Amino acid sequence: MSSSSDPEKPHLAFLPSAGMGHLKPFCSLAAALSERGCDVSFISVQPTVSAAESCHIADFFAAFPRIRRLDFDLVAYDPSGFASTDPFFLRVEAIRGSAHLLPALLASSSPPFSALVIDIFLASTCIPIAAAIGLPSYIWFISSAAMLSLLACFPTCSPGVSDFEIPGLWRVPKASIPRALHNLSHPFTTQFVENGRILPKASGILVNTFEALEPVALAALNRGKVAPGLPPVIAIGPLQAASLGHEGSPLSWLHGQPARSVVYVCFGNRTAMSKEQIRELGVGLEKSGCRFLWVAKSKIVDREDGEVELEGLLGEGYLERVKHRGLVVKGWVDQEEILRHRAIGGFLSHCGWNSLSEAALHGVRVLGWPRGGDQRVNAEVVARSGLGIWVEWSWDGEEEVVMGEEIGERVRQLMEDDGLQASAARLGEEAVKAVAADGSSGKGLAEFIGMLKMR
Ligand code: UDP
Ligand code: UDP
Repeated sequence: MSSSSDPEKPHLAFLPSAGMGHLKPFCSLAAALSERGCDVSFISVQPTVSAAESCHIADFFAAFPRIRRLDFDLVAYDPSGFASTDPFFLRVEAIRGSAHLLPALLASSSPPFSALVIDIFLASTCIPIAAAIGLPSYIWFISSAAMLSLLACFPTCSPGVSDFEIPGLWRVPKASIPRALHNLSHPFTTQFVENGRILPKASGILVNTFEALEPVALAALNRGKVAPGLPPVIAIGPLQAASLGHEGSPLSWLHGQPARSVVYVCFGNRTAMSKEQIRELGVGLEKSGCRFLWVAKSKIVDREDGEVELEGLLGEGYLERVKHRGLVVKGWVDQEEILRHRAIGGFLSHCGWNSLSEAALHGVRVLGWPRGGDQRVNAEVVARSGLGIWVEWSWDGEEEVVMGEEIGERVRQLMEDDGLQASAARLGEEAVKAVAADGSSGKGLAEFIGMLKMR
């Protein structure tokens, strides 16, 4: 399929999986490559799971008219046999189950494709299908290089019941490994093992990280210490979001706050909190004595969050009591605009990797409260790199409620730690250098484009 395309203008097909944490970095990379002279087609599944995805996709195609849209109609998917009710995982399964339709979809497009860029969740089903039609696959890995290392060595090591040693990296305590991975017959684990095994068949793996943030993991991956046979692992981050031209409302509030005085609190696009925990977090932020901007979220899918009133979630009188130094919002905010704002001095984060790479880019110190999945592995990167600290609080669906007193204490600690502020700021400077054309990540992106042109 690659033989008749213009080698100077590679044509890429992008296929993300579900959730904003996947869609956003896919849009950002697609935009960056389009701006660097590649032809880009973007595969989209409608309707999206969340309203945020639907808005983002619409804004993205409006902002980048050169990028072609390919609508992917999935075959009907019966979720009854799958051991998860999470709508985002069910969507991933549905895409995996429809991967056999990709060749026909790709064949309908002109000029012919030079490569497929896929999400890790789709690797084991899509790479063989693409290979069968002569198309190389590249993985755009949207988590940390540490998490990629865990994925790469997982199939060859027996996780058993103890801690997990990543060769060339560090020992991950059992309690930091996603709970599903403790159970080898869990469907997430089956897919994780399959995706880990297929990595050597990818033509390259792009990672949203940079040298100064993860030097050890990147060297270990590329020197064959983590697992044999991996393709080039290329750090190209922290990739800045494609500019879609919005300014959210919390910004006007931030404009009135002193420099570095506000702690921003957000747990990503799909991590909900119980009402009890939301109340305690509210107590904690109040007790911390710090200024705060908090995106509260009580439902996994944002379409259901609209029905929930803030006042009912936080308790009567809360908003009035904190109004001089706290702003609580519900719904989507432009997080990158917020992290970039001079008033932000700290970030209480669930340690989703996009959030962390955005914090690194803007030199904002982090208090990590990982909640599940890859987040404790990512939190360890935060601690080792000097970006911040993290706490072992309620994890992976645990019911335990963390009390406000403890939360307030940690938030205050974060905001008073000048050493951490300085080390986060240094990482921010390194991040800016890395993404410049002559920086390590800038060169990484150029290397990737070079690989495409050589095919
Ligand atoms: N995000 C945002 N506004 C919100 C919530 C999230 O812009 O109200 C963005 C955030 O900047 C990040 C992504 O959504 O780019 C969330 O990805 P992450 O990997 O941090 O966590 P996930 O949501 O996948 O758990
Ligand atoms: N992941 C992976 N291989 C897989 C599935 C997941 O490496 O087959 C990683 C990937 O980094 C993903 C993370 O595990 O982001 C954890 O996924 P999570 O359950 O947190 O879902 P997400 O919030 O990323 O959609």
